[in-house]
Amino acid sequence: MADKFIIAGTPEEAVGSKSKDNVYMAGGTEVMRLGSSVSADSFVSLRRIPEMHIIETDGNTVSAGASCTFQELLQSDLIPGYLKEALLFMASRTRRNMATIGGNIAVCRDDSFLIPTLIAVSASLRLSGPQGSCAVTVRDYVTEKGKYEDMLIISVSFPAEGVIVRSYRSANTAQSHARLTASLAFADGKYTACAAVKNSGIYMADDLANELGSRGMSEDEIVEFVKQKKDIHLEDDLIYGSAAYRSYLTGISFALMYAEINSEINKEGGSVR
Ligand SMILES: Cc1cc2nc3c(=O)[nH]c(=O)nc-3n(C[C@H](O)[C@H](O)[C@H](O)COP(=O)(O)OP(=O)(O)OC[C@H]3O[C@@H](n4cnc5c(N)ncnc54)[C@H](O)[C@@H]3O)c2cc1C
Repeated sequence: MADKFIIAGTPEEAVGSKSKDNVYMAGGTEVMRLGSSVSADSFVSLRRIPEMHIIETDGNTVSAGASCTFQELLQSDLIPGYLKEALLFMASRTRRNMATIGGNIAVCRDDSFLIPTLIAVSASLRLSGPQGSCAVTVRDYVTEKGKYEDMLIISVSFPAEGVIVRSYRSANTAQSHARLTASLAFADGKYTACAAVKNSGIYMADDLANELGSRGMSEDEIVEFVKQKKDIHLEDDLIYGSAAYRSYLTGISFALMYAEINSEINKEGGSVR
């Protein structure tokens, strides 16, 4: 039960109401979840801020307000297919009606629905805090989380076109937590790869992406490359599978996404701009 519930009407009001004693609440699906890592009795609600529900595009980039729910984004014609694929990783329609894109990024879980895809496409955020506003990539937001801890995410920007993306999620059932969510994107002649690995972390696979960009790699080479990576820490897990299995799964997922992207590049005559 909330002790105090402030309903902000503008981003400025939300930032002005934020203190060390309260937390932002958007959809509330994480902050109200039993066993949530977010614990608070006082909240600043972000649901009634019209600016944070706007979806717009200039043709190259789409910007979505951070309080847009998964379902609102799915129903918008402006949202590119690659993001809709990741939004549908949240299988529950009821939860999609409540959960927001900003909340999913802020909560930054190691089974995140959206972060691998957003990082793969070099998405960025507009943030606001007591010291003012700034823009930051989702990648920097995730890797330097402490720096942006209490800042409000106002909107998320990502490419409208010009990028080929594949995302993959592995879970016991559609409603279960994912053991792996991975995404690979190709734009301007470069690959970008990111994986969220349950009970381990979110990894930027720059080394793999660079290898993919500089030489063609076979399925076996990709699997072996991921197996040799020392920075992805895996332990045997009764629910999510052995370390060896999850390493293989990560490698083969990137290999399959790479094959699909290459086939699309070939269809498009070898270049994506
Ligand atoms: C049964 C169940 C299963 C789930 N499984 C998954 C899963 O597999 N993967 C996954 O990623 N999530 C999962 N979640 C968590 C959650 O549903 C999603 O992460 C959701 O997208 C969070 O969005 P929200 O708007 O509900 O966030 P909220 O619960 O409102 O907030 C979550 C956190 O984000 C902060 N926040 C929210 N909006 C902003 C903003 N605009 N700026 C700054 N901070 C903000 C809040 O302060 C809070 O700390 C699950 C939840 C439930 C109940």
